[in-house]
Amino acid sequence: MRLVLVGPPGAGKGTQAQFISSHLSIPKISTGDIFRSNVSTGTELGQQAQAYMERGDLVPDEVTIAMVEARLADDDAQSGFLLDGFPRNVPQAETLRKLLADWDTKLDVVLELVVEDDEVVRRLSGRRTCRVCGRIWHVLFEPPARPGRCDDCGGELFQRDDDREATIRHRLDVYAQQTQPLIAFYADDGILLGIDATGPVEEVTARAMAALRRFMT
Ligand code: AMP
Repeated sequence: MRLVLVGPPGAGKGTQAQFISSHLSIPKISTGDIFRSNVSTGTELGQQAQAYMERGDLVPDEVTIAMVEARLADDDAQSGFLLDGFPRNVPQAETLRKLLADWDTKLDVVLELVVEDDEVVRRLSGRRTCRVCGRIWHVLFEPPARPGRCDDCGGELFQRDDDREATIRHRLDVYAQQTQPLIAFYADDGILLGIDATGPVEEVTARAMAALRRFMT
């Protein structure tokens, strides 16, 4: 299955992408994760992306598209994939469509995770990441026993630059202006599925899998 996950920052795309890709046995391709790992290892790609990411802006299309094209050409993506965070605007969606058409294939489904803006701000502004082991905590929903320290390894917790409230509001504006038009783009194709992404993680996964199953039959 060739699947795209779309939704505002903080909709839980990363978490759901993990579960759905393992249920469907397809690789999860997350552009945000690929950029972040390139930033942390200081590659040229990371240096190109870093300033845009810190501001909450989109990395330029030519950089992003070249990276995704290379990843989709890998062997493990030939019989299906789940894209998380790509496409993020209509030009990226058009390029993806052309690329897949060149390979005699197309997307099967675009799953939209629907969440209100205020909920997104509540979720993301409380998120804290452990500097040592990378575990994610939340000051309201999953607080560590000692504020600012990871229960697992004792590492210091920090807030991602792009999880500060002003940056989150900016990322939501970017989403509304650039990514929201994809919803109509894929609805026109008849491959858009929307699900409510609020509530416990496992309930959202169950909703997603039920929606995908209906779509497959
Ligand atoms: P994410 O983890 O998906 O929220 O992505 C984090 C950041 O990576 C975004 O705010 C952008 O700066 C950058 N990014 C991720 N995916 C894309 C994309 N498809 N196009 C442009 N920039 C992206």
